[in-house]
Amino acid sequence: MPAPPPLSLQPADALLVIDMQNDFVSAVNGRGGALAVAGGHDIVSPIKTLASRFAHVVLTQDWHPRGHISFATTHPGKEPFETIAAPYGAQALWPEHCLQHTHGAELHPELDIPHAELILRKGYKRDLDSYSAFVENDHTTPTGLAGYLRERGLKRLFVCGLAYDFCVRHTAVDGKQLGFETLVVEDASRAVDLPGTVDATNDALARLGIPRVLWTQIHAASAR
Ligand SMILES: [Zn+2]
Repeated sequence: MPAPPPLSLQPADALLVIDMQNDFVSAVNGRGGALAVAGGHDIVSPIKTLASRFAHVVLTQDWHPRGHISFATTHPGKEPFETIAAPYGAQALWPEHCLQHTHGAELHPELDIPHAELILRKGYKRDLDSYSAFVENDHTTPTGLAGYLRERGLKRLFVCGLAYDFCVRHTAVDGKQLGFETLVVEDASRAVDLPGTVDATNDALARLGIPRVLWTQIHAASAR
């Protein structure tokens, strides 16, 4: 197969690195975080290298209070990966993860992207989860990221991180629908991979014309 064409970065491009936190990153020694995504550790180094090619990088940080609506432990009798009917619609339940001010909520120590300009926290309201970095799970409440990017003049977004089929998916979809040219860096992302979630993500991205690209395709602008 021929190598995919190179993508040259432009000044108005930004890399969005989604939820690369200890609780989501699988550990090299097999001891993963509370909600470790398989292969999560494999993308830390590629993301670090990829980020060095971008002038603008935004990191997100899942940041939950105790008793968060997305925790199975908040709902007696419920198990992780079941779905509940929240006031704002269906909400999947997870093991407790990314509790505010815990080690699990910290960004992965090997990520090391010193020039990242913004760390956007999400999911900090007890009764409302947020997969997307743009709009919370009620599909109404904005996080402010779109305004930040617009005010900074950033127009094209490359989305990577964890997890491909949840927060990366919803961030990419919302970014595109909010008018940003959006691409997903597929091999710098990893999926939770519940039944059907990867196929649904691929379909959603295709429907909106969001390309899935490889991190090795992306090169710094020749002027830099
Ligand atoms: Zn969460």
